[in-house]
Amino acid sequence: MRAQLFDGLLDDVPRAPLATLPTPLERGPELPGGARLWVKRDDLTGLGAGGNKVRKLEFLCGDALRRGARTLVTVGAAQSNHCRATAAAGSVLGLDVHLVLAGDRPERPEGNQLLSDLFGAQFHFTGAPSHHWGELEIAREEITAGLVDAGAVPYTIPMGGSTPLGALGYALAFAELVEQCEDLGVHPDAVVFTSSSGGTHAGLVAGRALLRAQGRGQPAELPDLLGIGVARGVIADQQFVAELAVTALELAGCTPDQAAAMIRPGDIDVDGGWLGDDYGTPTRAGDEAIRWAARHGGWVLDRTYTGKGLSGLLGNAARWGAGDDVVFVHTGGMPAVFASGGFPS
Ligand SMILES: *Cc1c(COP(=O)(O)O)cnc(C)c1O
Repeated sequence: MRAQLFDGLLDDVPRAPLATLPTPLERGPELPGGARLWVKRDDLTGLGAGGNKVRKLEFLCGDALRRGARTLVTVGAAQSNHCRATAAAGSVLGLDVHLVLAGDRPERPEGNQLLSDLFGAQFHFTGAPSHHWGELEIAREEITAGLVDAGAVPYTIPMGGSTPLGALGYALAFAELVEQCEDLGVHPDAVVFTSSSGGTHAGLVAGRALLRAQGRGQPAELPDLLGIGVARGVIADQQFVAELAVTALELAGCTPDQAAAMIRPGDIDVDGGWLGDDYGTPTRAGDEAIRWAARHGGWVLDRTYTGKGLSGLLGNAARWGAGDDVVFVHTGGMPAVFASGGFPS
Protein backbone atom coordinates (compact mmCIF):
# COMPACT_ATOMS: atom_id res chain seq x y z
CA MET A 1 0.00 0.00 0.00
CA ARG A 2 1.02 3.60 -0.32
CA ALA A 3 1.27 5.50 2.97
CA GLN A 4 4.09 7.40 1.30
CA LEU A 5 3.67 10.07 3.92
CA PHE A 6 5.76 7.94 6.26
CA ASP A 7 8.68 7.66 3.81
CA GLY A 8 9.50 4.07 4.60
CA LEU A 9 9.51 4.74 8.35
CA LEU A 10 8.21 1.26 9.17
CA ASP A 11 10.01 -0.63 6.42
CA ASP A 12 12.25 -2.43 8.92
CA VAL A 13 9.36 -3.71 11.00
CA PRO A 14 8.38 -7.25 9.88
CA ARG A 15 4.95 -7.32 8.35
CA ALA A 16 2.91 -10.16 6.84
CA PRO A 17 0.98 -8.88 3.83
CA LEU A 18 -2.54 -9.97 4.78
CA ALA A 19 -4.71 -6.95 4.01
CA THR A 20 -5.99 -5.54 0.74
CA LEU A 21 -5.02 -1.88 0.96
CA PRO A 22 -5.86 0.93 0.66
CA THR A 23 -9.45 0.39 1.72
CA PRO A 24 -12.01 2.61 -0.03
CA LEU A 25 -13.02 6.00 1.33
CA GLU A 26 -16.65 6.54 0.38
CA ARG A 27 -18.61 9.76 0.28
CA GLY A 28 -21.69 9.39 2.45
CA PRO A 29 -24.81 11.44 3.09
CA GLU A 30 -25.23 14.68 4.97
CA LEU A 31 -25.36 14.29 8.72
CA PRO A 32 -28.03 15.87 10.89
CA GLY A 33 -26.54 19.37 11.30
CA GLY A 34 -25.27 19.58 7.75
CA ALA A 35 -21.74 18.11 7.85
CA ARG A 36 -20.71 15.62 5.16
CA LEU A 37 -20.11 12.01 6.24
CA TRP A 38 -17.33 9.94 4.72
CA VAL A 39 -16.89 6.24 5.45
CA LYS A 40 -13.46 4.61 5.54
CA ARG A 41 -14.26 1.03 4.61
CA ASP A 42 -11.98 -0.92 6.92
CA ASP A 43 -14.65 -3.60 6.93
CA LEU A 44 -13.16 -4.33 3.48
CA THR A 45 -9.58 -5.17 4.48
CA GLY A 46 -10.02 -8.44 2.61
CA LEU A 47 -8.71 -11.30 4.70
CA GLY A 48 -11.32 -13.71 6.07
CA ALA A 49 -14.27 -11.27 6.01
CA GLY A 50 -12.15 -8.22 6.79
CA GLY A 51 -12.37 -5.67 9.58
CA ASN A 52 -9.87 -3.62 11.56
CA LYS A 53 -8.02 -6.58 13.12
CA VAL A 54 -6.45 -7.47 9.78
CA ARG A 55 -4.27 -4.33 9.82
CA LYS A 56 -3.02 -5.21 13.31
CA LEU A 57 -2.41 -8.83 12.38
CA GLU A 58 -0.07 -7.79 9.56
CA PHE A 59 2.41 -6.61 12.19
CA LEU A 60 1.58 -9.22 14.83
CA CYS A 61 1.99 -12.09 12.38
CA GLY A 62 5.12 -10.50 10.92
CA ASP A 63 6.56 -10.68 14.43
CA ALA A 64 5.29 -14.23 14.96
CA LEU A 65 6.98 -15.46 11.77
CA ARG A 66 10.23 -13.64 12.60
CA ARG A 67 10.26 -15.43 15.95
CA GLY A 68 9.70 -18.79 14.31
CA ALA A 69 6.28 -19.38 15.83
CA ARG A 70 4.21 -22.22 14.38
CA THR A 71 1.04 -21.54 16.38
CA LEU A 72 -1.06 -18.46 17.09
CA VAL A 73 -3.05 -18.16 20.30
CA THR A 74 -5.54 -15.41 20.95
CA VAL A 75 -8.64 -14.61 22.96
CA GLY A 76 -11.96 -12.85 22.68
CA ALA A 77 -15.67 -12.61 23.22
CA ALA A 78 -17.90 -15.39 21.91
CA GLN A 79 -18.43 -13.39 18.67
CA SER A 80 -14.86 -12.05 18.47
CA ASN A 81 -13.99 -10.56 15.09
CA HIS A 82 -10.36 -10.53 16.14
CA CYS A 83 -10.37 -14.28 16.78
CA ARG A 84 -11.98 -14.90 13.39
CA ALA A 85 -9.42 -12.69 11.60
CA THR A 86 -6.58 -14.47 13.45
CA ALA A 87 -8.00 -17.83 12.35
CA ALA A 88 -7.96 -16.61 8.74
CA ALA A 89 -4.39 -15.30 9.11
CA GLY A 90 -3.34 -18.70 10.40
CA SER A 91 -4.73 -20.44 7.34
CA VAL A 92 -2.97 -18.02 4.97
CA LEU A 93 0.36 -18.33 6.79
CA GLY A 94 0.16 -22.06 7.55
CA LEU A 95 0.08 -21.60 11.33
CA ASP A 96 -2.09 -23.52 13.82
CA VAL A 97 -4.57 -21.26 15.61
CA HIS A 98 -5.97 -21.71 19.12
CA LEU A 99 -8.85 -19.44 20.12
CA VAL A 100 -9.74 -18.87 23.77
CA LEU A 101 -13.37 -17.80 23.75
CA ALA A 102 -15.98 -16.55 26.17
CA GLY A 103 -19.04 -18.71 26.74
CA ASP A 104 -19.65 -22.40 26.21
CA ARG A 105 -19.35 -24.53 23.10
CA PRO A 106 -22.58 -24.04 21.15
CA GLU A 107 -24.44 -26.86 19.46
CA ARG A 108 -23.64 -25.29 16.11
CA PRO A 109 -21.17 -22.44 15.62
CA GLU A 110 -22.68 -19.19 14.33
CA GLY A 111 -21.38 -15.95 12.86
CA ASN A 112 -17.70 -15.39 13.62
CA GLN A 113 -17.39 -18.82 15.26
CA LEU A 114 -18.72 -20.49 12.15
CA LEU A 115 -16.02 -18.75 10.09
CA SER A 116 -13.25 -19.46 12.63
CA ASP A 117 -14.25 -23.13 12.52
CA LEU A 118 -14.19 -23.07 8.73
CA PHE A 119 -10.69 -21.53 8.81
CA GLY A 120 -9.58 -24.51 10.90
CA ALA A 121 -9.03 -22.90 14.30
CA GLN A 122 -9.24 -24.91 17.52
CA PHE A 123 -11.63 -23.55 20.14
CA HIS A 124 -11.14 -23.40 23.91
CA PHE A 125 -14.37 -22.33 25.59
CA THR A 126 -13.87 -20.76 29.00
CA GLY A 127 -17.48 -20.37 30.16
CA ALA A 128 -16.61 -16.76 31.07
CA PRO A 129 -19.03 -13.93 30.16
CA SER A 130 -17.93 -11.93 27.10
CA HIS A 131 -17.24 -8.79 29.17
CA HIS A 132 -14.97 -10.56 31.73
CA TRP A 133 -11.76 -9.69 29.92
CA GLY A 134 -9.45 -10.34 32.89
CA GLU A 135 -10.69 -13.90 33.23
CA LEU A 136 -10.30 -14.46 29.50
CA GLU A 137 -6.72 -13.16 29.48
CA ILE A 138 -5.78 -15.52 32.33
CA ALA A 139 -7.26 -18.41 30.36
CA ARG A 140 -5.20 -17.37 27.31
CA GLU A 141 -2.02 -17.40 29.41
CA GLU A 142 -2.85 -20.85 30.79
CA ILE A 143 -3.58 -22.32 27.38
CA THR A 144 -0.42 -20.75 25.95
CA ALA A 145 1.61 -22.26 28.79
CA GLY A 146 0.00 -25.64 28.14
CA LEU A 147 0.99 -25.47 24.46
CA VAL A 148 4.57 -24.63 25.40
CA ASP A 149 4.64 -27.61 27.78
CA ALA A 150 3.43 -29.79 24.93
CA GLY A 151 6.39 -28.64 22.80
CA ALA A 152 4.61 -26.10 20.56
CA VAL A 153 6.08 -22.69 19.67
CA PRO A 154 3.10 -20.39 20.19
CA TYR A 155 2.85 -16.67 19.56
CA THR A 156 0.23 -15.36 21.93
CA ILE A 157 -1.84 -12.26 21.19
CA PRO A 158 -3.88 -10.35 23.79
CA MET A 159 -7.50 -9.16 23.41
CA GLY A 160 -8.14 -7.41 20.13
CA GLY A 161 -4.47 -7.56 19.11
CA SER A 162 -4.04 -4.29 20.96
CA THR A 163 -0.31 -4.28 21.51
CA PRO A 164 2.08 -1.54 20.36
CA LEU A 165 2.96 -3.67 17.30
CA GLY A 166 -0.69 -4.20 16.44
CA ALA A 167 -1.33 -0.48 16.81
CA LEU A 168 1.25 0.24 14.09
CA GLY A 169 -1.33 -1.04 11.61
CA TYR A 170 -3.51 1.91 12.50
CA ALA A 171 -0.65 4.41 12.44
CA LEU A 172 -0.30 3.46 8.78
CA ALA A 173 -4.06 3.56 8.33
CA PHE A 174 -4.08 7.17 9.50
CA ALA A 175 -1.49 8.11 6.86
CA GLU A 176 -3.45 6.17 4.24
CA LEU A 177 -6.60 8.10 5.14
CA VAL A 178 -4.83 11.48 5.08
CA GLU A 179 -3.47 10.68 1.61
CA GLN A 180 -6.91 9.71 0.33
CA CYS A 181 -8.39 12.91 1.72
CA GLU A 182 -5.66 14.97 0.08
CA ASP A 183 -6.33 13.26 -3.26
CA LEU A 184 -10.01 14.15 -2.92
CA GLY A 185 -9.35 17.69 -1.69
CA VAL A 186 -11.26 16.93 1.51
CA HIS A 187 -10.10 18.25 4.89
CA PRO A 188 -11.98 16.30 7.54
CA ASP A 189 -12.62 17.97 10.87
CA ALA A 190 -12.81 14.67 12.69
CA VAL A 191 -12.23 10.95 12.32
CA VAL A 192 -14.65 8.95 14.47
CA PHE A 193 -14.29 5.24 15.20
CA THR A 194 -15.35 2.55 17.64
CA SER A 195 -12.89 1.90 20.47
CA SER A 196 -12.86 -1.30 22.49
CA SER A 197 -9.45 -2.75 23.32
CA GLY A 198 -7.78 0.55 22.37
CA GLY A 199 -5.31 -0.54 19.69
CA THR A 200 -7.11 1.08 16.80
CA HIS A 201 -7.34 4.33 18.74
CA ALA A 202 -3.70 4.21 19.86
CA GLY A 203 -2.50 3.55 16.31
CA LEU A 204 -4.49 6.43 14.86
CA VAL A 205 -3.16 8.73 17.60
CA ALA A 206 0.41 7.56 16.88
CA GLY A 207 -0.03 8.06 13.14
CA ARG A 208 -1.38 11.55 13.70
CA ALA A 209 1.52 12.37 16.02
CA LEU A 210 4.04 11.15 13.43
CA LEU A 211 2.57 13.35 10.71
CA ARG A 212 2.45 16.29 13.09
CA ALA A 213 6.10 15.75 14.03
CA GLN A 214 7.10 15.55 10.37
CA GLY A 215 5.42 18.91 9.86
CA ARG A 216 3.40 17.35 7.05
CA GLY A 217 0.23 19.08 8.09
CA GLN A 218 -0.41 22.15 10.15
CA PRO A 219 -2.18 21.00 13.32
CA ALA A 220 -5.49 22.41 12.08
CA GLU A 221 -5.16 20.38 8.89
CA LEU A 222 -5.00 17.09 10.72
CA PRO A 223 -8.43 15.88 11.79
CA ASP A 224 -9.37 15.42 15.45
CA LEU A 225 -9.74 11.81 16.55
CA LEU A 226 -12.86 10.82 18.47
CA GLY A 227 -13.15 7.29 19.83
CA ILE A 228 -16.56 6.00 20.82
CA GLY A 229 -15.94 3.65 23.75
CA VAL A 230 -17.83 0.35 23.66
CA ALA A 231 -16.00 -1.36 26.53
CA ARG A 232 -15.56 -0.21 30.12
CA GLY A 233 -11.76 -0.46 30.13
CA VAL A 234 -11.05 1.97 27.33
CA ILE A 235 -13.52 4.49 28.75
CA ALA A 236 -12.11 4.30 32.29
CA ASP A 237 -8.42 4.16 31.34
CA GLN A 238 -7.55 6.49 28.49
CA GLN A 239 -3.98 6.55 29.82
CA PHE A 240 -3.72 2.99 28.49
CA VAL A 241 -4.37 4.28 24.96
CA ALA A 242 -1.73 6.99 25.45
CA GLU A 243 0.84 4.45 26.65
CA LEU A 244 0.11 2.15 23.73
CA ALA A 245 0.55 5.07 21.32
CA VAL A 246 3.87 6.07 22.91
CA THR A 247 5.26 2.53 22.67
CA ALA A 248 4.05 2.25 19.07
CA LEU A 249 6.01 5.43 18.30
CA GLU A 250 9.11 3.84 19.81
CA LEU A 251 8.65 0.87 17.47
CA ALA A 252 8.48 3.41 14.63
CA GLY A 253 11.98 4.57 15.59
CA CYS A 254 11.33 7.40 18.04
CA THR A 255 13.34 7.54 21.25
CA PRO A 256 11.31 7.09 24.45
CA ASP A 257 11.64 10.82 25.22
CA GLN A 258 10.60 11.85 21.71
CA ALA A 259 7.69 9.43 21.76
CA ALA A 260 6.43 10.64 25.14
CA ALA A 261 6.61 14.27 24.01
CA MET A 262 4.79 13.53 20.75
CA ILE A 263 1.57 12.46 22.48
CA ARG A 264 -0.09 15.50 24.01
CA PRO A 265 -2.77 15.62 26.72
CA GLY A 266 -5.63 16.58 24.37
CA ASP A 267 -4.79 13.90 21.81
CA ILE A 268 -6.94 11.17 23.30
CA ASP A 269 -10.67 11.69 23.31
CA VAL A 270 -13.03 8.84 24.20
CA ASP A 271 -16.76 9.46 24.40
CA GLY A 272 -18.08 6.86 26.84
CA GLY A 273 -21.71 7.91 26.55
CA TRP A 274 -22.76 5.26 24.02
CA LEU A 275 -21.74 2.07 25.81
CA GLY A 276 -25.11 1.39 27.44
CA ASP A 277 -25.11 -1.28 30.15
CA ASP A 278 -21.88 -2.97 29.12
CA TYR A 279 -19.68 -4.35 26.36
CA GLY A 280 -21.76 -6.55 24.09
CA THR A 281 -25.14 -5.41 25.39
CA PRO A 282 -27.05 -3.73 22.56
CA THR A 283 -28.41 -0.18 22.93
CA ARG A 284 -31.43 1.44 21.37
CA ALA A 285 -29.26 4.23 19.88
CA GLY A 286 -26.87 1.63 18.46
CA ASP A 287 -29.69 -0.29 16.82
CA GLU A 288 -31.06 2.95 15.36
CA ALA A 289 -27.61 3.76 13.98
CA ILE A 290 -27.47 0.30 12.38
CA ARG A 291 -30.73 1.06 10.57
CA TRP A 292 -29.54 4.55 9.64
CA ALA A 293 -26.33 3.15 8.08
CA ALA A 294 -28.18 0.41 6.25
CA ARG A 295 -30.68 2.85 4.75
CA HIS A 296 -28.28 5.69 3.94
CA GLY A 297 -25.37 3.81 2.44
CA GLY A 298 -26.01 0.07 2.42
CA TRP A 299 -23.42 -0.24 5.19
CA VAL A 300 -23.79 -3.22 7.54
CA LEU A 301 -22.92 -2.45 11.16
CA ASP A 302 -23.04 -4.71 14.21
CA ARG A 303 -24.54 -4.34 17.68
CA THR A 304 -21.33 -4.65 19.76
CA TYR A 305 -19.02 -2.27 17.91
CA THR A 306 -19.86 -0.23 14.85
CA GLY A 307 -23.56 0.32 15.61
CA LYS A 308 -22.67 1.90 18.95
CA GLY A 309 -19.77 3.71 17.29
CA LEU A 310 -21.96 5.32 14.68
CA SER A 311 -24.56 6.14 17.34
CA GLY A 312 -21.82 8.18 19.01
CA LEU A 313 -20.99 9.96 15.77
CA LEU A 314 -24.66 10.75 15.14
CA GLY A 315 -25.06 11.82 18.76
CA ASN A 316 -22.14 14.22 18.39
CA ALA A 317 -23.28 15.54 14.99
CA ALA A 318 -24.06 18.97 16.49
CA ARG A 319 -20.29 19.47 16.89
CA TRP A 320 -20.02 19.89 13.12
CA GLY A 321 -21.95 21.99 10.63
CA ALA A 322 -22.46 22.62 6.92
CA GLY A 323 -19.16 22.60 5.06
CA ASP A 324 -17.51 20.28 7.59
CA ASP A 325 -16.40 16.76 6.72
CA VAL A 326 -16.43 13.88 9.19
CA VAL A 327 -14.97 10.42 8.58
CA PHE A 328 -16.39 7.30 10.23
CA VAL A 329 -14.00 4.36 10.23
CA HIS A 330 -16.13 1.29 9.55
CA THR A 331 -14.11 -1.26 11.50
CA GLY A 332 -16.14 -4.30 10.37
CA GLY A 333 -18.17 -6.76 12.41
CA MET A 334 -20.59 -8.05 9.80
CA PRO A 335 -20.29 -11.77 10.65
CA ALA A 336 -21.81 -11.18 14.11
CA VAL A 337 -24.99 -9.97 12.43
CA PHE A 338 -25.60 -13.57 11.38
CA ALA A 339 -25.33 -14.98 14.91
CA SER A 340 -28.45 -15.22 17.06
CA GLY A 341 -29.28 -11.86 18.61
CA GLY A 342 -26.94 -10.17 16.14
CA PHE A 343 -29.57 -8.22 14.29
CA PRO A 344 -31.96 -5.60 15.65
CA SER A 345 -35.48 -6.78 14.90
C1 LIG B 1 -12.23 -4.94 17.63
C2 LIG B 1 -13.22 -4.10 16.94
C3 LIG B 1 -13.30 -2.70 17.18
C4 LIG B 1 -12.47 -2.01 18.21
O1 LIG B 1 -11.10 -1.97 17.91
P1 LIG B 1 -10.05 -1.92 19.12
O2 LIG B 1 -8.75 -1.77 18.47
O3 LIG B 1 -10.22 -3.19 19.88
O4 LIG B 1 -10.40 -0.75 19.99
C5 LIG B 1 -14.21 -1.97 16.46
N1 LIG B 1 -15.03 -2.54 15.57
C6 LIG B 1 -15.00 -3.87 15.33
C7 LIG B 1 -15.96 -4.43 14.34
C8 LIG B 1 -14.10 -4.69 16.00
O5 LIG B 1 -14.09 -6.01 15.76
